[in-house]
Amino acid sequence: MIEFDKTRISLKPSQNWNEWIKNAFQFGRCECIRCRESDYDESAYRYKHTFEIDGEILSRRFATTPKEDFESNLKKAWISFYRLDNSKEEIFIKHFYDTSHSLLEIYEFTLPELKNKLVALIPEIRSVELSGNLVEISRNY
Ligand SMILES: [Zn+2]
Repeated sequence: MIEFDKTRISLKPSQNWNEWIKNAFQFGRCECIRCRESDYDESAYRYKHTFEIDGEILSRRFATTPKEDFESNLKKAWISFYRLDNSKEEIFIKHFYDTSHSLLEIYEFTLPELKNKLVALIPEIRSVELSGNLVEISRNY
């Protein structure tokens, strides 16, 4: 792992990343029409609406958590936190979809209290998978 400066978590891109994770969920079970009509039975769902994280019942804000928002926030925070210079940034972007991203490296710029939310969210994002500590992001939908 590259040497880095912990204080870089306070830079704007990492702040935005953490804010994004925090806002990915709202308190309470999902009350969307689909959930109400199915009596809150999510067994037929591809993506979960309601979560229990750290003992709290939360629902996902789908409007702010599409793959595109995940990707753009992650890219900006990573590039800023790891201080990638232009050539490294180019390589990072070029191989964004064909390399696995270490969850532990993502944790470095994720606030500790948001880690469980992040881990709950990642596998629920279209074309994004979490296997062990590796985050795989597919180019295609
Ligand atoms: Zn719902």
